[in-house]
Amino acid sequence: MHIHDVVVVGAGLAGLSVARDLVAAGSDVVVTEARARAGGRVEQTSTADGRLVQLGGEVIGDFHTSYRQLVAELGLTIVPSFTDIPGESTWLMRHGVFRGDDMPWMSTADRTVYHRLNTTFANMAAGLNPDDPWSHPDAVALDRMSVGEWLRSEGASQDVLRAMETRTFGLAEDSIERRSLLADLRKEAAAGAHGFYDYDVWESSKVLEGSATVALTMAEDLGHRIHYSTPVMSIDIKPENCRVTAVSGETFRARNVVSALPAGPLRDLRITGVSDERLDSLHRQQHAPAVKYVPVYETSFWESQGQNGTGYFESAILGGTWVQNDGIISALVPVDRLGAYNALPPNRRAAALRDEMVLAYGDAAANTQAEYIRNWGADPWTQGYITSWRPGELTAMGPLHGSHEPPFWVVGSDQWVCGYMEGAVRTGRQAAQSILAR
Ligand SMILES: Cc1cc2nc3c(=O)[nH]c(=O)nc-3n(C[C@H](O)[C@H](O)[C@H](O)COP(=O)(O)OP(=O)(O)OC[C@H]3O[C@@H](n4cnc5c(N)ncnc54)[C@H](O)[C@@H]3O)c2cc1C
Repeated sequence: MHIHDVVVVGAGLAGLSVARDLVAAGSDVVVTEARARAGGRVEQTSTADGRLVQLGGEVIGDFHTSYRQLVAELGLTIVPSFTDIPGESTWLMRHGVFRGDDMPWMSTADRTVYHRLNTTFANMAAGLNPDDPWSHPDAVALDRMSVGEWLRSEGASQDVLRAMETRTFGLAEDSIERRSLLADLRKEAAAGAHGFYDYDVWESSKVLEGSATVALTMAEDLGHRIHYSTPVMSIDIKPENCRVTAVSGETFRARNVVSALPAGPLRDLRITGVSDERLDSLHRQQHAPAVKYVPVYETSFWESQGQNGTGYFESAILGGTWVQNDGIISALVPVDRLGAYNALPPNRRAAALRDEMVLAYGDAAANTQAEYIRNWGADPWTQGYITSWRPGELTAMGPLHGSHEPPFWVVGSDQWVCGYMEGAVRTGRQAAQSILAR
C-alpha cells in the first residue's frame, strides 16, 4: 500500500493550513474530512439576494498575524469589521434597556471600579508569557482561581460582576465563575495585555470575500488530496508506517499523522502508539458549546435609531449581538443558556430569539427576510464552539498543551491560547515547518 508523507485528519483552517504548506514544499499529503465540505467551524451560505452569511467564525484582531499573512498569500482582502460602525451599543439588562458604550446602566462609582480592575488585569497579563504561562511563579494559584473569585477578591461590586458576566455571555464564553484566571490572563497576554477582552483588540477586522472563503480557497487548491465524507475512527502511530482508518474501513498509510480536530471529535478516536500522558492531556480539553443565530434584514435599520448593532443581553437566551454585514446581525446563545434554548420547541426557537431582538432593537427587528440557526454544540464534528479553560485545567495539562509527539502531530485552534481562527492557522503552519524540518 502507498505510504504518504503525511495524513491530515480534518479540513478546517488548521488542517488546510498545514496541508497547504506541506504540499507547497513538495510533500505527498492526503486530507481526510468527515463532512462533505471543507472549513469546519468556518462555514458560509448566501441569502436570496446574494449577501454572504457567516455561520461560524468571522472576525479577527490586528495581532492575528498568522491568519492575516495567510489571507494576504491567498489574495483575499482584510477590511474593518463591526467595531467601526457608528452609534451606541445596546444593553438588555434585567432592569431595562440601556444605550451607550461605557455600560450606561452602572453607577459612576461602579464604572470607576471596573476600569481600575481592568488596569490591574492588564498589568497582571503583561507579566505572563502566553507561550509559557506555566513558568509564572503564581501559575498554580492563578489557575485555581476563577475570574469571578478574583474580581470579588479585588473589591468588585455586584454590578461590576454583572457587567463582566454580561460581556462574557455576549461572546458566548463560559461563565466568569467557571473560567481560569490564568487562562484569561494568558489570552490577553497574547493580545498585548490591553485589559479585559475588547472587541477593538480581538474583532476589528474581517475578510471582505467572506471568512469561510479563506478555507474554501485553500481547499480548492488542495483539490483531489482532500477526501470528503471520510470520518476517521482510529489512528495507529508507528515509526515510518502510521495507519489512519476511516469509519468506512478505508485506510491511509503515512510517515506522519496530523490531527486537526476539535477537542470533542478527537476524544472519540481510538489512538494507539501515542503516550498515555499525551492522550490524557488532549482528552482533558473542553469547549464552551454555543448556538449561532443570524437574522437577515433588508437594511441596517438600527443605524437610523442611533444603535451600532452591538448588544449585550443579560436577560435573554441570546448572549449578545454584533453586525456581520449590511442588514445582517450575528448573535450567539452561550453555554449557560443552552438549557433554556433546548427547552423551546424546535419550531419556536427562531421566533423566541427574534422576540429578544425586538426587545433590544424595536419592532423593525421582527421583519426578518431570513434567519439561520447553527447549533455547533450538537454537531458531532465540532461538539462545541471555542476552547474553555476551567479553573485548574491549564496547569493540569501543563506544557504538553500545543506540543507534539512525532510522528503524531496535533494542530487546531484548541492548541493555541483559545479557540480562535488565528490559533488554527498559527498551529497549522508551525507544525508544517516542524514536519518539513524533520
Ligand atoms: C459560531 C462560531 C463563531 C466563531 N467566531 C469566531 C470569530 O469571530 N473569530 C475567530 O477567530 N474564531 C471564531 N470562532 C472559532 C473559529 O471558527 C475556530 O476556532 C476555527 O475555525 C477552528 O479551526 P480548526 O481547524 O482548529 O477546527 P475546525 O474548524 O473545527 O476543523 C476541524 C475539522 O475536522 C473535521 N472532523 C471532525 N471529526 C472528524 C473525524 N473523526 N474525521 C475526519 N474529520 C473530522 C471537522 O468536520 C472539521 O472540518 C467561531 C466559531 C464558531 C463555531
